[in-house]
Amino acid sequence: MRVVIAGAGTAGCVLAARLSADPGIEVLLLESGPHYRSGHWPPALAHAFRIIKETHDWGFQAQAGASPRGVHVPRGQVVGGSSITNAAIALHGLPEHYDEWAQFVPGLDWAAMLPWLRMIEDDEQFGAEPYHGDHGPIPINRWPREGWYPLLERFAEAALARGHAWVDDHNAPGAVGVGPTPFNMRDGVRQTPADHYLDPALGRDNLSLVTGVRVDRLMIDGDRVTGLVVRDEATGERTTHHADHVILCLGTYQSPAVLLRSGIGPVDAITPHGIRVVHELPGVGRGMQDHPKISYRFWVSTDIPVWPHPWIQVLLTAKAEVRGEERLFQVMPYAGFADGGHRISEFNVQVADARGRTGRVDIQSTHPMDQPVLRMGWLDDPGDRDLAVAGGRELMAVARTAPLAGVLDPWPNLDDADHALRTVETFHHPVGTLRMGRDDDLMAVTDGAGRIRGLEGVWCMDASVIPRVPSANTHLAVIALSERMGAQFLAGTGHAAAAVSPDAG
Ligand SMILES: Cc1cc2nc3c(=O)[nH]c(=O)nc-3n(C[C@H](O)[C@H](O)[C@H](O)COP(=O)(O)OP(=O)(O)OC[C@H]3O[C@@H](n4cnc5c(N)ncnc54)[C@H](O)[C@@H]3O)c2cc1C
Repeated sequence: MRVVIAGAGTAGCVLAARLSADPGIEVLLLESGPHYRSGHWPPALAHAFRIIKETHDWGFQAQAGASPRGVHVPRGQVVGGSSITNAAIALHGLPEHYDEWAQFVPGLDWAAMLPWLRMIEDDEQFGAEPYHGDHGPIPINRWPREGWYPLLERFAEAALARGHAWVDDHNAPGAVGVGPTPFNMRDGVRQTPADHYLDPALGRDNLSLVTGVRVDRLMIDGDRVTGLVVRDEATGERTTHHADHVILCLGTYQSPAVLLRSGIGPVDAITPHGIRVVHELPGVGRGMQDHPKISYRFWVSTDIPVWPHPWIQVLLTAKAEVRGEERLFQVMPYAGFADGGHRISEFNVQVADARGRTGRVDIQSTHPMDQPVLRMGWLDDPGDRDLAVAGGRELMAVARTAPLAGVLDPWPNLDDADHALRTVETFHHPVGTLRMGRDDDLMAVTDGAGRIRGLEGVWCMDASVIPRVPSANTHLAVIALSERMGAQFLAGTGHAAAAVSPDAG
């Protein structure tokens, strides 16, 4: 059996390793960006203490929400994908939000996902707890409190003084409060699926990685996908790859774009580009969710030490009552940094329990080198907007509480309720553009195993399929879900012996 995996990002690395464990499966992994071996990162990527947006990034611009404001929405363009450029924050999210997945795919709830979350992690502090793992591929640890930057220590003390609870472990089910941020990082180095899944598997004869190619569109015969077409990134030269199965792992913005270019999706998104509709699926590119982020900037007004780069050793999660419901938000405080002779700190409020689904992905042309048209829909949902404002107010209240009070001067107009609408950006967790669902759900594109409905031989197993954004950063959820879908794929294609099981211990 020959499988082509399109996209060597977070999900693609997991799947390439898991599927090629069976020598009877020939796996070809295709990626636009370059490959660096573990530990041989160029300096621009080796910096684990910040998000990387300036290099190895797709440079996509998106429309923010109701306003036409253009905003950069980063995505990693490198083997490892966004896991190489992200902030390495390793959170599970609250169980009740995974339980909502079962409304889309019966049985896919927190109880179904927890074993996979446990299986992927090696939690250095809490691995023995029943809701953690201690021998998975992804190391997770937290910064000891005695090493926190003074501004962050003050932030935590002020949050506690405001009545927020202390949490040792933000990944304990139901934990809400202030405590150390869990990271998939060791000795200041990101620990990613490229390092821990793909690289160890690359010596296998049945696994090939091809970089520097842009996935253009699928080849389709009747209702069967028979392979795909790629273009060389440098020359534009066209090559075709035949496969028994194509698995899309191009991420939330680009997996739907490939389907649309192939004539699969809503008619009104395809025909204006002169593309023939091959298979009508109204949900392709629709219903995107993301976590809106609102930044609050302060001048640091004492001589308290700041870092050369912003960083987040501590995290506050809290709930606010919005329209009669308690809903979760996060506050991510940066340690404080020097910028152009000023000493600044930035605190991000994330609408963690985001409900809006108005984001969408379209194509601007048939050309694979054109970026997709991205409309993010942030804060279109009135409840999300109220939660953003409530989170900002709580952050300002913490900033005015001792021992933080007097250390931070807010920039003007931060208390203005419109601040959120004017400045909203991505917290980098878009999902749901090829959402999973039941057969009678017309807007569902994939089933619970990632199979694209109504077609043979084509799957998506990346963040695009997530039916409801978890109330946390999405990296661990994507790894866990791609593990689960990979095992289902192996079992469903006659290769069950190679499928990993989270219950194997
Ligand atoms: C800046 C940033 C910060 C983040 N911070 C965190 C964090 O701290 N914690 C957390 O949990 N999550 C974080 N996330 C989110 C997390 O990284 C993503 O949810 C996850 O990596 C998504 O995995 P994926 O496999 O769906 O996509 P990706 O990992 O983005 O992989 C997609 C891959 O496909 C390739 N590709 C795309 N289109 C094509 C094409 N046409 N042809 C060839 N190749 C293509 C890309 O180059 C990439 O390698 C962050 C994301 C970003 C971008």
